[in-house]
Amino acid sequence: MRAMLLNAAGTPLSEVALPLPSPGPEQVLVRVHACGVCRTDLHVIDGELPEPKLPLIPGHEIVGTVVEIGARAGRFARGDRVGIPWLGYTCGVCRYCLMGRENLCERARFTGYQIDGGYAEHALADERYCFGLPAAYPDAEAPSLLCAGLIGYRALALAGAARRLGIYGFGAAAHIIAQVARFQGREVYAFTRSGDDTCQRFARELGAVWAGASDEAPPEELDAAIIFAPVGALVPAALRVIAKGGTVVCAGIHMSDIPSFPYHILWGERTVRSVANLTRRDAEEFLALAPQVPVRTAVQTYPLTQANHALHALKEGRVQGAAVLIP
Ligand SMILES: [Zn+2]
Ligand SMILES: [Zn+2]
Repeated sequence: MRAMLLNAAGTPLSEVALPLPSPGPEQVLVRVHACGVCRTDLHVIDGELPEPKLPLIPGHEIVGTVVEIGARAGRFARGDRVGIPWLGYTCGVCRYCLMGRENLCERARFTGYQIDGGYAEHALADERYCFGLPAAYPDAEAPSLLCAGLIGYRALALAGAARRLGIYGFGAAAHIIAQVARFQGREVYAFTRSGDDTCQRFARELGAVWAGASDEAPPEELDAAIIFAPVGALVPAALRVIAKGGTVVCAGIHMSDIPSFPYHILWGERTVRSVANLTRRDAEEFLALAPQVPVRTAVQTYPLTQANHALHALKEGRVQGAAVLIP
C-alpha cells in the first residue's frame, strides 16, 4: 500500500510503498477513503509532541471501509463504513478509565501518533475505538467530524451553559462547533487573525453574530470562550472579554507559552482549563447530534501524495474549513 511516512520530526513526509498489514485479533483492516489533516498532525510532524512512533504514518480522522477482520473482532462486517479517531486504545483499568474519563487514561495510545494512522491507502484499528458514521456525510466530509468535531464538541460542553460564546481561531473545529452552538441557541463571537477578512466572512456565513480580530473587544461581554488557535497570548485576551464566572477553554493539544497576566482578569471566579482528547461517549453523542443540526463541513481535498502541501497550507492558515487527503 502507498503511504506518507514521517521518518524523523521536522522533516517532510515521504511517499513509500509498504506491505499490506494484517489485523491483530481485535483489529480491523480498513481501506481508507479519506483522512483529515489536523493541526495535531502538524504538532507531531514538527516535533512539538514528545516521542511519536517512528517511522510513523500520521492521520487520525480516518474514514474507510472494513476489508478484513481480526480473529476476535466482530463489531463490524466487511464493507461497513467506519471512522477511526484520535483515541486508539485505552487500558480500561487505570483510575481515569474506571471513573469514565478514558480521555485521560494513563496508558492511552493515539492514532497517527503512537499508532500508524490514515495518510495511507489502508489502516489498522482496534475495532473497539471505531465508529459507524452518519450516512448523510459523504466520505470527504466525514473526517472533520472525527477530530475537529469531537474535540470541538467536548470543548463546547466544558464551556458550560454560556449563551454568548467566543471562539478564537476559526478553522476546522470552530466551523463545526459554531453550527452546533447556534443550534443550541447560543450566540457565537468569532475571533480571527487581525485583517483576515475571508475568515471573518466565513464565520459570519456560519452564523456568528460578530467576527473580528483577536485583539478587538466584542460588542458584548461574553459568557465563555474556546481557544482553538495554538497561541498562548489568547488566554489573557479571552479572560479580558469574558464575564465573571466564565470559562476559557483551551482546546488544542499544544500551545505557545501563556504570557503572565494580572490576577484581576482571572478574579471573579473565572476559570481557565484545557480539553484533552476524547472519550468514546463524546463520539457517540456528537455523531448522533451532527446530522440533526445538521452540521455541514467545508472541505478542501488533496490527493494523498500531496500531504506535505496540505500540511503547509494548514500551517499558513490557507485552508478554509478542513483539509482532507484522498488516497
Ligand atoms: Zn486507562
Ligand atoms: Zn485532530
